[in-house]
Formats: sequence, structure tokens, C-alpha cells
Amino acid sequence: MNRYHLLIVGAGPAGLSAAYAAARSGARVALIERHLLGGNCLNTGCIPSKTIIRTSRLYRDMRDAEQFGAQVPGGITVDFPAVMARVRRVRARLSEFVSAERLAAIGIDVYFGEARFAGPDSVTVGAEVLRFKSALITTGARPVTPPIPGLEEAGYLTYENVFDLTECPKRLLVIGGGPVGCELAQAFARLGSQVTLVQDEPMFLGHEERDAAQLLSDALARDGIDIHLDTQAIGVRVQGSDTVVDLVRDDTMRTVAVDRILVGAGTTPNVQNLALEAAGVSYDAARGILVDDFLRTTNRRILAAGDVCTAHKFPHIESVAGRIVVANALFWGRQRLSAQVVPWCTFTDPEIAHVGMYVTEAREKNVPIKTFTVLMHQVARAIADGEEDGFVKVHVREATGQILGATVVARHAGDLINEISLAMSAGLDLQALGRVNEPYPTQSQAITMAANAYMQSRPNARRTWLRTKWLSW
Ligand SMILES: Cc1cc2nc3c(=O)[nH]c(=O)nc-3n(C[C@H](O)[C@H](O)[C@H](O)COP(=O)(O)OP(=O)(O)OC[C@H]3O[C@@H](n4cnc5c(N)ncnc54)[C@H](O)[C@@H]3O)c2cc1C
Repeated sequence: MNRYHLLIVGAGPAGLSAAYAAARSGARVALIERHLLGGNCLNTGCIPSKTIIRTSRLYRDMRDAEQFGAQVPGGITVDFPAVMARVRRVRARLSEFVSAERLAAIGIDVYFGEARFAGPDSVTVGAEVLRFKSALITTGARPVTPPIPGLEEAGYLTYENVFDLTECPKRLLVIGGGPVGCELAQAFARLGSQVTLVQDEPMFLGHEERDAAQLLSDALARDGIDIHLDTQAIGVRVQGSDTVVDLVRDDTMRTVAVDRILVGAGTTPNVQNLALEAAGVSYDAARGILVDDFLRTTNRRILAAGDVCTAHKFPHIESVAGRIVVANALFWGRQRLSAQVVPWCTFTDPEIAHVGMYVTEAREKNVPIKTFTVLMHQVARAIADGEEDGFVKVHVREATGQILGATVVARHAGDLINEISLAMSAGLDLQALGRVNEPYPTQSQAITMAANAYMQSRPNARRTWLRTKWLSW
């Protein structure tokens, strides 16, 4: 009875997506989870953060009401417990979609407990021994604690416990200017915290294009965040009711007094306590489980996906990975992770979304690239919406129109990027996007405008000659 076609360790987005796909194709599936179904994404990541961001945007909009010719009666006060109660409600509602009952109803056997490999084709969970034909490891990652003297003793928040706060910190230091640090710094600033944001690199979101990161920096400053780039937190101590942090930039030291510290300094893969050696699965403590492009580990029966191994730490790639796993593990598939078009987005305001190649990457690979940029303040709907910050930038292979990549900075960049991702997945060039008829006015008109700019950059001598002739006649 305890023999499965596919045994999955970890019920985050990667594990769940593989479990659904495998069960739908008729496989016997076991899913082992040691904590909460839905993993980091549902419980401590994407969902609670996007929920709190939604409320924080509303507060920002209320403060900007006059710009829209609207009045907010009385002063604006933030009811932080109510904000967090909404986070819990949303999380509870979405957790129904992945409840053990729902999973059981589609034929997935759910086991709660810590999974450990007992051999190359078996896993123990509690007193049970489960055997498998194929297994998938999707155990995710956990927050990294930077080695700052005094940090442990003073205490700090991470994404694992920040959504349990019942009181908004008056003064909050956020360490880390990646997506998690920037999103939460902005959200808490809008909810009333006096936020200091420290990043040890010269710009936020190190992997994004410079102008996108610069726009974000400006937006965070407008939200009143005290920004420290190229700065390191080097020591923490408690003085009375204050937590005092030493910040160093070049040779200059500054001290800030705060009430709470939130660390958003990256994650480390969950590879410990799985007895991976017993299963013959190689791993690296920092990079996670070693996989090839087909997501296979060093044990041919076992695959891995998601934050425990891949470079892109986003749940939609985890879902893609889950589907690849089912094809490759159960049906002799040869699907490659590198063949996927993977957009991502940082949900600050404005949002920063990207898909495909960056300019620097194209230059490194000697790919001839041409970029077409439309600023959001040229787009009618963005002006009407009062959402003029940002741009749509599409990179094409010179002289062909093949879309190589795009960056969108806009209030709804996460939605706008999808049109470009779809074109890239379907092999459509930028010219094809210019032929799309859209309702007017929409912000996605920015993409059509970029396509039109591309068309105008390609004078067709014969067509121009014919048109001129026709008109003169
Ligand atoms: C604050 C925050 C906001 C984010 N926002 C976004 C966003 O907006 N968009 C986006 O794309 N990404 C976002 N992310 C990233 C996203 O949450 C992760 O990439 C995603 O959750 C990874 O999915 P996963 O399935 O690999 O792992 P996880 O979701 O971490 O799931 C792994 C599961 O495995 C379980 N597990 C671990 N070890 C064992 C074991 N030995 N036995 C049994 N079970 C085990 C864990 O309990 C966990 O439930 C955000 C992350 C954070 C922290």
C-alpha cells in the first residue's frame, strides 16, 4: 500500500503543483509536509506580503487623495491590528484551496511529519516507511541571518514572523534591499513606521536594470524611507528600550535607534535533516540540491525543484518546475527548465517586472540588441490614472524584431509583462505585438507604442517609395 509512483517532500508551490499534475495523470502520489500546506508562499511569503501591500497602497492613495480631487474626511489613522487581521483572513481563505481534504479528494495521500530518506527508493515519516518509483524534493528555503554582532541577542524579525506582528513598529530598520526588503520596507513606511533601509550594494534589486532600480530608490525616498545604500550594519546593541545599530559606509559610521529590525538578507536551502546521503543525492549547503536542466539529482529516481535548488526563487517557476518534474519523472519526458520563459516581479510601488535577457547579459554574450522604450508619462491611461512613474522597455535582436527581453516599471508592471511573456513563449516578434488591437485607454498601450517605435525604426524603402508615388499621383 505504501508504494508510490511519485513521493513528494514539501508542500509549497513546487510540491503542490507536481502533486496535482501527477494525481491528474493517474499516478499514486504521496505528499509529505512537516509544517503547513502551501509552504512559504502561502503562509509567510507572497500571499501575506501582497495582502499587506494592498492595504499600504490604499493608505498611500488616501494620503494622495487631494491630487485626484478627492477629500478624505478627518485624519488618516492606521488600524494595524485590522490590517493584520485581513492578512490572516486572506491566508485562511486561500489555505482552503490546498487543504488536506481537497488533496485527499483528488487522490493525493498527505502525510504530516519530517521526511527522511531511508535509502535510494524509500522515505520515513514518523513510524511509516514509504517506497517510491520516483521522488521529488521541494523542501524550499529558510531566511539567512547575517553575522552581525549583537543581532541574535537583540532579536530580529524575518519574513517567517513579521506577519505575526500585532503592533506596527514605530521605528523599523530593514536590512537588505532585495525584493523582500524593498516590498516590506515600503509597506511598513506606508502603514506608519519610520523606516530605515540598509543595503550593502550601490543599488536596490542588484539584478535589475539601473534605471529601474533608480526609479524604485526615488519612490522609496518619496515614501519617507531613510535610505542607506552601499552601507553595512556592523553591530547591534540594546540601550534601554532602544535597539541601536551601527551603520558603516566607506569610513563613515552612523548610529540609528530603532524599535525592531527586519532582516531580508536572502535565503538558504532546506537540505539538512533529509538524510540525502542515504539516497545518494548530492547537495551543496549554500546552493542546495544539485540538479541538471531536467531537474534530475545524482539519484536518477529523485528530482528536485523550487527554492531548494533552482536559481529563480519565484513560485510560478516552482509551478513550472513541478510540471516538468511530472513529465520527466513519470513519463520519460525531456523537458528542460532553461527552455521556459520566466517573468518575475517585485511588488513595490511602482512594480518592477522583467522577462528574458538584460542588456548587460546580451552584451556579454555578443548578442546584437536594440531597445525600445516608452515612458509611462507618454501613455494616456497612465496619465489619467495618476500613475506616470515608470517605463516599458523591450529589447529585440537587432534587425529581426525577435523579443529577447523586457523590463517594465509601472504600478501594474506584474500584469503588463504578461503580454510580452506570452509573445516570447509563442515566438511572436515585436511587430506582432504592434498589430494587437486593444481597448482604449489602457496602460498596456505602452507595449503597442514600443512596437510602433520598432516599426518606425525599420524604414521599408520599397513601401515608402510606393506610398509616396501613390500619394503624389
Ligand atoms: C516575503 C516574501 C514574499 C514573496 N513574494 C513573492 C512574490 O510576490 N512572487 C513570487 O513569485 N515569489 C515570492 N516569494 C518567493 C516564494 O515564496 C518562494 O519562491 C516559494 O514559496 C518557493 O516554493 P517552494 O515550493 O520551493 O518552497 P516552500 O514554499 O518554501 O515550501 C517548502 C515546504 O517544504 C516543507 N519541508 C521542508 N523540509 C521538509 C521535510 N524534511 N519534510 C517535510 N516537509 C518539509 C516546508 O515546511 C515547506 O512547507 C516571496 C518570498 C518571501 C519570503
